[in-house]
Amino acid sequence: MTPSLNPAFPWPALVRATLAPALALALAGAGADSARAEAGAQGAAKPAPARSSPPNAAAGRSPTTIMAPATRRPAAPAARAAPPAPEDVPLPADTAAASADPLEHLRQRLADRLVAPKGATASGSFDVRISTRSGLQGPSGAAAQGVASGRARGGKVAHGPGAGAVHWGYEGEHGPAAWAKLKPEFGLCKTGERQSPIDIRGGLAVNLEPVKFDYQDSPFSVIDNGHTVQVNLQPGNSIDIGGRKFELQQFHFHRPSEERIDGRQFEMSLHLVHKDAQGRLAVVALLFDEGPPHAVVQDVWNNLPLERGEARPARQPLALTELLPDDRRYYTYMGSLTTPPCSEGVQWVVMRSPLSLTAEQIGLFSRIYPMNARPVQSASGRRILQSD
Ligand SMILES: [Zn+2]
Repeated sequence: MTPSLNPAFPWPALVRATLAPALALALAGAGADSARAEAGAQGAAKPAPARSSPPNAAAGRSPTTIMAPATRRPAAPAARAAPPAPEDVPLPADTAAASADPLEHLRQRLADRLVAPKGATASGSFDVRISTRSGLQGPSGAAAQGVASGRARGGKVAHGPGAGAVHWGYEGEHGPAAWAKLKPEFGLCKTGERQSPIDIRGGLAVNLEPVKFDYQDSPFSVIDNGHTVQVNLQPGNSIDIGGRKFELQQFHFHRPSEERIDGRQFEMSLHLVHKDAQGRLAVVALLFDEGPPHAVVQDVWNNLPLERGEARPARQPLALTELLPDDRRYYTYMGSLTTPPCSEGVQWVVMRSPLSLTAEQIGLFSRIYPMNARPVQSASGRRILQSD
């Protein structure tokens, strides 16, 4: 007797016979996908592009599950072509729908398995190595090229993603207080004496030479690297500080601002990371209050990639020249990367005049990264200069 002749459950039986193996395959696929994610396939992590709370909280899981080992390069496109199988998105509950229409229920379960977003990583919990230009780099970069020495020289620009494949974040057991314990190369995060960010107070007002910005409208790509939203730029933009030329590598965002001025924290900040020919870093920080929109930032938001770890090239160049405030007075001091490995020897240039973003523009970033700011570090008698 065939299943279809079963008088009690003619359709459900057939459906079970035909769909159950497919469902089992899909479930097995979830395991394979999970393994691929842990092997560094950034394409396997598919967080919802916008969300108000970490999906793991809803799933009752620790938000610290995925990282890319140091020995693997990011996934080949072929790996991303595999159907996504969510590991943290619960299937729809087996509720009344099951008895009402078993066929539809099974179909829905299978469909959910095949298309549901990954949602597996909370903010700041996914490590992807990013090159200083565009696209992705293998993990051999920063650590192998000198940031482990504790100086921000010679290596790939590590502000943000230069920490190797060790998982770090902004909360809990992988948060800033624990960074130094995560990897020997992160030791300066605890022992460094010239760390960033700081609360900028008591700057010495002097006649500082203006920073000369030589920025152009530039092709760019946007990447969510697991710690922030970052814009990678092609060469051709530079600044001149005191006769030394630094080439712009990338910029990225923090919420709230990492730097404070006289105790005041801002809604967001933006870090323009530059490197000179000797590998020394200079970071220009822009601060944002809530207010009128910022068109250049909106251009970045408009080019957000759907997937974490995947650079999305923009179709139009970015109007970099319109990014900066008209008032170019600034504070400057010597500090560090604000992310592991917390390398020192970084010259900070913090623009005094805040820019603005609308509540919606701030809210958009907040839904991806509600908090990605390192706490302020001791200024410990460092000299801060400010242009008068
Ligand atoms: Zn930064």
